[in-house]
Amino acid sequence: MGGTFDPIHHGHLVAAAQVAQECRLDEVVFVPTGRPWQKTHAVSSADDRFLMTLLATVSNPRFDVSRVDIDRPGPTYAVDTLTDLQAHYGPECELHFITGADALASLSSWKDHRRIVELARLIGVTRPGHDLVDPGLPGDTITLVEVTAMAISSTECRRRAADGLTLDYLVPAPVAAYIAKNRLYLR
Ligand code: NAP
Repeated sequence: MGGTFDPIHHGHLVAAAQVAQECRLDEVVFVPTGRPWQKTHAVSSADDRFLMTLLATVSNPRFDVSRVDIDRPGPTYAVDTLTDLQAHYGPECELHFITGADALASLSSWKDHRRIVELARLIGVTRPGHDLVDPGLPGDTITLVEVTAMAISSTECRRRAADGLTLDYLVPAPVAAYIAKNRLYLR
């Protein structure tokens, strides 16, 4: 599961659990992105995002966190993420790449996108009532899974933290404590 995770929230966690069940996955590996080269807003440091992701997932034995995107120098490309994970888990491991359907809508412009669909099955997580941009790809390239809890968004969490509002029940308690202690997202 790839994402910026700035911050990780309960929508991501419910999405991971729901996709794992629906697609019969053994494990979900959360992969926080490295350098945010396409982002217009400032993004928290890779270490802050990695640590929040670790805090959010540590209690679930079927969840893991990978540093492949953070430790690889240069911009983050999904083709490199999947190549590194395939090398780590071995050729018998069948990879699924889970991320936001909004992000996957631009897949045809991603580096080596034809190789990406060879390396993994693509699963796009959608928010309720959210129209999807047509990625212009064959109909069966991306499996869409609607997740009610994805009504929560990282943008809204950052906005609330900036306004001094509580993040209780939107993010796991240790993540809320980490954000408060490290004064993330304050203007
Ligand atoms: P983003 O633009 O920050 O997010 C786009 C939308 O998708 C947001 O609504 C976001 O909601 C949602 N989203 C992001 N990650 C999600 C997840 N794991 N589960 C459910 N919803 C999610 O997207 P991004 O984080 O930069 O990129 C997502 C993934 O796509 C990363 O792995 C990234 O490396 C990959 N990607 C690759 C390329 C490329 O190879 N050229 C280009 C773009 C993205 P929240 O803000 O609430 O998370």
